[in-house]
Amino acid sequence: MTEQLYIKDLLTLQMVWEKPLTKEKALKVKQEWLDDLFGNLEQVITTNVGFYKALYYWLESEIKDKTLGDILIQYMPFFQNYGDYVSGYDKAIYTFEKMMKQPALQKWFSNIQANEPLAKGLNFDAFLIKPVQRVPRYKLFIDRLLKCTPQDDPDFPKLPAALEKCDKIAHVINSAKEKQIQREFMSKIAEKIDCGNELLMIPGRSFVKDIQIDKITRKSKRQPRHLFLFTDVLMVATDTLTERCVVQVKLQLKGSEVKDLPDDVENGFLNRFQFLSYPKSLELAAASKEEKDKWMELLLARIQEADKSLGSKIKVIPMFEPDAKVKRCPICSEKFTAVFRKHHCRQCRRVVCGNCTKHKRKLPSQSEGERKKRVCDDCWKHDEHWTPEGATSDAPYVSSSDEE
Ligand SMILES: [Zn+2]
Ligand SMILES: [Zn+2]
Repeated sequence: MTEQLYIKDLLTLQMVWEKPLTKEKALKVKQEWLDDLFGNLEQVITTNVGFYKALYYWLESEIKDKTLGDILIQYMPFFQNYGDYVSGYDKAIYTFEKMMKQPALQKWFSNIQANEPLAKGLNFDAFLIKPVQRVPRYKLFIDRLLKCTPQDDPDFPKLPAALEKCDKIAHVINSAKEKQIQREFMSKIAEKIDCGNELLMIPGRSFVKDIQIDKITRKSKRQPRHLFLFTDVLMVATDTLTERCVVQVKLQLKGSEVKDLPDDVENGFLNRFQFLSYPKSLELAAASKEEKDKWMELLLARIQEADKSLGSKIKVIPMFEPDAKVKRCPICSEKFTAVFRKHHCRQCRRVVCGNCTKHKRKLPSQSEGERKKRVCDDCWKHDEHWTPEGATSDAPYVSSSDEE
């Protein structure tokens, strides 16, 4: 094991970055950032040096009063330091990225990378990751030791315990690596999505999958959309090849529903399904049967998963009642004609005549600044949360979608 070189790298981390960052007041580095970055580096170094020395003396000395197993067991607590370091690594990288957004700090870091010989032309994060990369090597070392130690050797019974501890740390490292991959992925996704002034990368959210799909409007028109599925929300965005996809609405998965729709061969809408959510519900048409099945399954699985999370469930917005189905106004019973036209109540989503939808009100699903919406007389008699019997998402409303 090239412990010496490794320890030198750790000392470089302290000397080249930690000390100056702590001292140079002009850089305005917050104490909490330093804690995030260097956490227990000092402990990691101290125990590492001790372990290295003990190992070195053991190899050099002729009379061995301890076994190698004794040394390993003695220094096993030092793997706990590694565990702590590795668990904190995720946050350290996050803090480092945050710091790199400040021009003064970015300049400072790249100056060191370019001019400090100890940095060997590498940036800070290349050193920060060293202890994380180290543990699997210790595990390998113990593995090898276990293999070449005879079963009657006094070391033998001690090694599995050491190996088990290494395994635990290696497990922590693996999940940290997965998080790292996910984080890189999220920043790539973030480049593709424009979600206004809302934060895309919130803690606990990870990206699942995206798809280009057609949205079917209430007026039976196709609109190309790009859906981005995350572990907690479905983002519905515009779909353009050249620019970033602009998020139109963010739909919470918890409490949402997915509903299969039969093919509408007459109008050429195949592979349809509904995503019922809040503040909007959508009708979608996938490019193929396989894609539809895959996405319905994926959405259902994710909704199920999200339903287990804490927080309140949404009340899904029903789809608009399709025009074609309704012959008479359900309120005044007047027959619809080419002149006596159909309107949609934005609250109960039924087809109603113009005379019976004279009122307007602000609905709970609307965002601030939106205009008041047309509601029918039945809804007007009640408050804005009311829905008539049968106008829930279970109603057999099939071929329409939530379009303003
Ligand atoms: Zn009417
Ligand atoms: Zn109504």
